[in-house]
Order: sequence, then structure tokens, then C-alpha cells
Amino acid sequence: MNQCVNLICLGYNLLMDLKALYKISYGLYIVSARLGDKLNGQIANTVFQITSEPPRLAVGICKDNLTHKFISESGAFCVSILSNEAPLSFIGRFGYNSGRDTDKFEGVNQCDATSGSPIVLDNTIGHIDVKVEQSMDVGTHTLFIGLVVDAEVLDGEPLTYAEYHRIKSGAAKPAAKTASTEVSEADINGGDKYRCLVCNYIYDPSVGDPEAEIAPGTLFEDLPDDWTCPICGATKDEFTKED
Ligand code: FE
Repeated sequence: MNQCVNLICLGYNLLMDLKALYKISYGLYIVSARLGDKLNGQIANTVFQITSEPPRLAVGICKDNLTHKFISESGAFCVSILSNEAPLSFIGRFGYNSGRDTDKFEGVNQCDATSGSPIVLDNTIGHIDVKVEQSMDVGTHTLFIGLVVDAEVLDGEPLTYAEYHRIKSGAAKPAAKTASTEVSEADINGGDKYRCLVCNYIYDPSVGDPEAEIAPGTLFEDLPDDWTCPICGATKDEFTKED
């Protein structure tokens, strides 16, 4: 009893199971903004509707990210909804790079939304364009809340945050696979899984790497020396064998 009292004396239970937070359902999005003639965007899961009349949306963005500066100064952002067939490399492009070092939009099909923010047209199934009405300082992040000024739905199914992690961990196969990597279960010989130390992607030999045309059944040891993590681009020596 005394232990319980001590554990909650700070206002929260030190033994609480934070894995409960992983049970909250999310989607996965590219949140983008424009500053002058420069475009930037990042991956975010914390996008949610606040009100329906009028339609309002909120997004949580880390203050350290360049996208935070773009949204703060432009007063607008666009949410492009990722398809469940979006390649991991495409997600990694927006999620594991900084716009300070690279132009994330180079080679990406995009057009201007009503607010002026860029709409990502590749590997997305729609977008929601938002003008910021207010922002809330929540420590490491800012919660931007705004009015939906335009929205569009295209064909396809959205990628959920849970499915993204299932694919990333090797628990599910990506929806988009190349025909050349199709093999029967009998061709798959097992083998050790390896985890990327940078982004936690897990290479599963039974899945292979469809984007790089690595067939299921290919052992990690047999991957080409120049193979890199499909999400973050880490090299093979930045992987560790899973227990
Ligand atoms: Fe990685």
C-alpha cells in the first residue's frame, strides 16, 4: 500500500505500462508546408479531426523539425494521406531525412493546395489542406490547430500506423510487391532476422526486400554488400542480429 502511495506521489504511477499508448490507433501522413519557394514535409501520425462544423484539424509537430518552422511562419499545412501501398523507402524519404540537408520533394510529384502548401501526389490517397488558427505549446512539440480549407479523396486505402510498424518489423508483407519477388512458401528457408540500429526496420529473410527486388528466402548474409535499409538507407554493418 505504501509503495502504491509512493509510486503515485508525483501525480502518476511510475509502474504504469506505457505500451498502452501503442494501442491508440493512428494513420500515417506527410505533413507539408511552403516557405517562399521552398517546400518541406515530414511523416506524422498525430493528425486528428477536432471539430466537424466547421471542419478543424490538429497536428503535433516537433519543434526541432524544419516543418515546424515552415508551418509556424506560413500559417498553413497540408496533410497528404499515405496509401497502404506506399513503399518503405518513400516513407523513409520524408521520415528519416531533414529538409535542412536535402530537398525531400526533389523528384516527387506535387501541386499547390489552396493554402499554398504542397500536396504530395505520389503514394497518397488524398489530402486535407489546413490554415492554422491557433497553436499550443506542449513542450517538445507544438499542436497546430486549423481550419480545413480544401480536401480531396483519391482511390486506394490508407496506411495505418499499426500496419506500418507490422511491415517495418517484418510481421506483415508490404502491399506493394514486384512480381519478380513472388515465390512459394516452400522456397523460403527461414534464417535470422536483422534489425537496423538507426530506424529499427527488421530484415526478415522470409519477406526479403521487394523494393530492392530481393526475393523472399534471401539470407541477410547473402544480401549484396551495397544493399541498404529500405527506410533510412543505413548500410549492412549498421544492422544487428535479432535474438
Ligand atoms: Fe533503417
